[in-house]
Amino acid sequence: MKTLLIPADQLSEAAAVIRRGGLVVFPTETVYGLGASAFNPVACVRIFTAKGRPSDNPLIVHIASWEQLDQVAVNIPAEARKLAETFWPGPLSLVLPKHPDLPEIVTSGLPTVAVRWPSNVEAQKFLLESGVPVAAPSANVSGAPSPTNFEMAKSAMLGRVEAILQGDDAEVGLESTIVSFANGEVKVLRPGSITLEQIAQTLGLDPNDLPYQVPQEGRPISPGLKYTHYKPAAEVQLFREPGELKNWFDKDVKVGLMVLEGSVPEDLPSTWEVLKFSDWDDYARYLYASFHELDQLCCGLILAQLPAASGIGLAIANRLQKSAGTV
Ligand code: AMP
Ligand code: MG
Repeated sequence: MKTLLIPADQLSEAAAVIRRGGLVVFPTETVYGLGASAFNPVACVRIFTAKGRPSDNPLIVHIASWEQLDQVAVNIPAEARKLAETFWPGPLSLVLPKHPDLPEIVTSGLPTVAVRWPSNVEAQKFLLESGVPVAAPSANVSGAPSPTNFEMAKSAMLGRVEAILQGDDAEVGLESTIVSFANGEVKVLRPGSITLEQIAQTLGLDPNDLPYQVPQEGRPISPGLKYTHYKPAAEVQLFREPGELKNWFDKDVKVGLMVLEGSVPEDLPSTWEVLKFSDWDDYARYLYASFHELDQLCCGLILAQLPAASGIGLAIANRLQKSAGTV
C-alpha cells in the first residue's frame, strides 16, 4: 500500500483519509497513534491487522470535545468527570461505560471503553477536522516499542497505512495513564506521566488506597517463554546503581547504556554506546527513541537504569520491566 506522508500544516488531508475509512498515523504527546474512525468497524478491524494486534486487546478512543465524549461513553462516574476536568486535554485515559452505538470491535466486546483527549495541538486539530472520535493504539507492530517521533512511526508503519501525519517528537514519550472505575472502585490499570500521586490527590484519596501494584522484580525468564511488550531487538537488562555495571564489562556483544547524567561511571568500556538523560522526565521522553537508536547501532544488549517506583518512575519501571521480560 502506498502511504502518504502528510506535513503538519496539511492535516486536513489526514482528516479526509479518516473520513474515507482509512488508517492514519498521527502524533500525540504520549506516542504516535494508529487511528481509524471509531464508528467505522471495518476501518477498526484494519488497525488490528496493520499492527498484528490480538483482537482481544481493546483500543483507546481519542476525542477533542466534550460532545465527542458523550458519543462514545455513558453514565460517566463523578470521579471520572473530576479527573477529566483536571487532566484533559492530556495523557490520561479513562475506562468508562461504553455507548451502545460504539462498535464492539473498538472495545473487544467489553462493556467499557477507554477514552482520551490528547493535549498535542496537531492531534487536537486532526481530531476536530476528522469530525469523529478516532480509535487508536500506539503505531508500533504489536510487542515492539511505541514510536515517539516521525522517523520511528515511518519505519514501523510505512506501507501498512494510508497516511502518516508528521508532527513533533512526543513530549511525554510513554503511553497514557489508564484509570478504570469498575464496580465503584478507582483503579490504575497502567501507570503513566499523570502519576498515581496526582490522581489520588485530585480524588482526595491516599495514594496507598489506589490499587496498583508495581510488578514484582523477578529474575529474567528465558526469552520466548513469555509474551513481552515494548521490546527492542536487543536484549534489555536493568540496573539501579552505576556500581552494578562492571558485571557487564566483559560482555562479548555490543552494549548500549541508558543512564542518568549524574550516574555514569568514569571507567566504562570505550566500545559502549552511552545515552545520557538529564532527569527521569527526559529519560521517559526518549526511552523508546533510545531503544530504536541502540537497535540501529546494532547493540545486542541494552543496559537501562531503573528508577525508584514513584512519580514518573513507576511508569518508566513498568515499561522497562516489560521490555526486559522480568514481568
Ligand atoms: P495502547 O496499546 O497503548 O493503545 O493501549 C491500549 C490499552 O488500553 C489496552 O492494552 C488495554 O490494556 C487498555 N484498555 C483499552 N480499553 C480498555 C477497557 N475497555 N478496559 C480496560 N482496559 C482497556
Ligand atoms: Mg500499545
